[in-house]
Amino acid sequence: MRTLREHGQVSRAQLAVHSGLSKATISSLVGDLGQRGLVRAAGTTAGGQGRPGELVELRPASACGVGLDLHVEHVGATVVDLTGEVLLRRQVACDVPGSGPERVLDLLADVLTGVVDDVRARGGWVVGATAAVPGLVDTDGAVVRFAPRLRWREVALRDGLAARTGLALDFFGADNDANLAAVAEQQAGGAAAGLDDFVYLTGDHGVGAGAVSRGELVRGHLGYAGEVGHMMLDPLGPWCSCGRRGCWETQVGLGALLHACASPDDPVRDPALDPDARMALVRARAETGDRRTLDALHQIGTALGAGVAVLVNLFNPAAVVLGGYFAALSEWLVEPVRSEVASRVLAEGAGGATVVASRLGFRAPSTGGAVHALGRVLDDPTVVTMEDHVESTEGMVAP
Ligand SMILES: [Zn+2]
Repeated sequence: MRTLREHGQVSRAQLAVHSGLSKATISSLVGDLGQRGLVRAAGTTAGGQGRPGELVELRPASACGVGLDLHVEHVGATVVDLTGEVLLRRQVACDVPGSGPERVLDLLADVLTGVVDDVRARGGWVVGATAAVPGLVDTDGAVVRFAPRLRWREVALRDGLAARTGLALDFFGADNDANLAAVAEQQAGGAAAGLDDFVYLTGDHGVGAGAVSRGELVRGHLGYAGEVGHMMLDPLGPWCSCGRRGCWETQVGLGALLHACASPDDPVRDPALDPDARMALVRARAETGDRRTLDALHQIGTALGAGVAVLVNLFNPAAVVLGGYFAALSEWLVEPVRSEVASRVLAEGAGGATVVASRLGFRAPSTGGAVHALGRVLDDPTVVTMEDHVESTEGMVAP
C-alpha cells in the first residue's frame, strides 16, 4: 500500500522490485487488495521490451481517514483519501470551554457520523478518526490529559466517541494538534514537504510546537513535549489560561492579536465568525494601512520572533513553519520574526533556519489527524473487509 502511494501507477513487476517481494506474492496481494476495493487497474505500461505490463493504482476514495478538530470556538472534521487529497470538511461553531466535554463529544460524534455516511455514499470506507487536541494527550489511550484553553482535564475521547457512534475502540486516536499539524505540513502537501528538521507552530488561541528532528516528532518522556506557548517570556505579563503569568501565548496567541487590533464590539472579535473570515477582515485593514492593525501586527510579530528565536537556538531547524493565524497574516508577521531570529540566534545565519508560512492554515491539525488515521489501512489493509467494499466493481483488478 505504501509503495503504491509513493509511486502512483506501477506494474506488478515494478511493485516486486520496489518491495523486494516475489512476483507471485505481489500478484496474490494485488488480487486481495482488489477484492477489498483498495486498488484498481490503470492501463498498461507503454513502450519497453516484451509484452506490456498491467498497471495498478490505489483507488483514491476507497479508504479514507478522518481528522477531528477540537477548537476553542468550533468542532469539525477533515476527510483525506488514500492518496492524501482532502475529500471534504465539516465545521460547526461551538463554545467548547463553555459547553463541557459531554456535550462537545455529542456534537463531535454527530459530525463524525455525518462524514462517515457521506464517504460511504461516495463508495468509500472510513478506516479511522484521530482527534487533534490543543493540549496534553495520552496518545495510547486517546485521553486528553489537560487542555487549558478547552478547560478539559482527563477526558477519554476514545471511550466517549466509541460509545456514542457504535464504532470500534481501535477506530479512534488522538494526538496534540501541533504534532498532527507538523505531520500534515510534511506529508500532505504542506510547507515542510521533504524536510526532516523543522518546527511547526500553531497560531491560534493557544500556541504549541510540533518539532520534527531527523524525521521524527520530538515527543519527550511522556509525550508532552512542545508546550512552547507556556514558556515564560515576561515575568510581569498577563495571566494565562494555565494559571501562570507571562506565558508566550498571552503575547502572541489569537486573543492577544484580537485585543491589540480591535475593540470588543468589533466583528473581528465575534467567535461565531469563521476564523478565516476574521483573518480576512484583519488582512483587509492591514492592506489599507490601518494604523491600529499595523501596530498590532508589528507588536505580535516582534514577540513571536523572540520566542521563535528560542526554538531556533534549541532545535536548529531548517525551517520554522508558522501555522494558523500566523500564516493568514504572514505578509506582516514573517519579516519581524526573521529580524528577531537574525539578531537573537547564536549560530551565524540563524543556523540555516528559514521562517515560512503554513500552506494548510487553520486546517493543518485536522488534516494531520486524517493522515494519521489513514495509517491504519496502510499498516493493515485487512481493516477494510471484503464486505465493506459495497459499491460497483468498475475498474477492479482481476485476482
Ligand atoms: Zn500558560
